[in-house]
Amino acid sequence: MEFTPHPSPNFDERGGAPVDMLVLHYTGMPTAQSALEKLSDPTPGNRVSAHYLVDEAGAIYQLVAEEKRAWHAGKSYWRGHEDINARSIGIEIANPGDAPFAAAQMNAVVALCKDILSRHPIPARNVVGHSDIAPSRKADPGEHFDWQGLAAEGIGLMPRAAPVQPQEGLVSWVMRILGLSHPQPVLSEGDSGPRVLAMQQKLAAYGYNAPVCQTFGPDTRDAVVAFQRHFRPQRIDGAWDGQCDAMLTDLLARLPAATMAEPDGRMAARLR
Ligand SMILES: [Zn+2]
Repeated sequence: MEFTPHPSPNFDERGGAPVDMLVLHYTGMPTAQSALEKLSDPTPGNRVSAHYLVDEAGAIYQLVAEEKRAWHAGKSYWRGHEDINARSIGIEIANPGDAPFAAAQMNAVVALCKDILSRHPIPARNVVGHSDIAPSRKADPGEHFDWQGLAAEGIGLMPRAAPVQPQEGLVSWVMRILGLSHPQPVLSEGDSGPRVLAMQQKLAAYGYNAPVCQTFGPDTRDAVVAFQRHFRPQRIDGAWDGQCDAMLTDLLARLPAATMAEPDGRMAARLR
């Protein structure tokens, strides 16, 4: 692929970590030019970077070599790991944060992701947004980002479509009318109990930094919002409904069995 070099001094060594994550961002700045300046600013205290920046027209700038550790993730967590910079490649996509992404820009993002995935063994569920790994701090690449389009190109993992309102069968309708069953109520902040625990365990099993404690507090809500932003941007309300649960259950069912039992990090410790 053709990259325009725009070297940033803001990087260090990976320290032996394998490259097994791809993190997507939006710049949150008015122009790609202003973002390029920020991502190569050597001023102490302001030093951030990414490996690549994709501008609005689809031109790709390389700021940091892939074998180096760029500084894009900050305080983050995914699947038990906290030094996400050490094990990831970071792509910044020029977008002020509230605008749709142009087709030419998304085509370049897809091509760049494919290029990176051809060179590094990055599992599909490790293609994440900044908001997935820092749910309480970050919202990028945001609800305008086309994760579905990426998945259609073989980049990342999306659930098979789940209906917003599942069709109710005759038997369940009769049972509900007779008072023999009740639809599962939506879980939201302030709730607690075994259903909250089950939701937290599933979020943590997928990779999110969700507390596993039976209490639906602010950190759990942030993880739910991040999940919705990535997998169901049509409704981001921080409440856990049947569709969210069906989507996450489907995602977990499609993971390679071996990766579910991996004994790494905090999640394994919490679930023991
Ligand atoms: Zn970001």
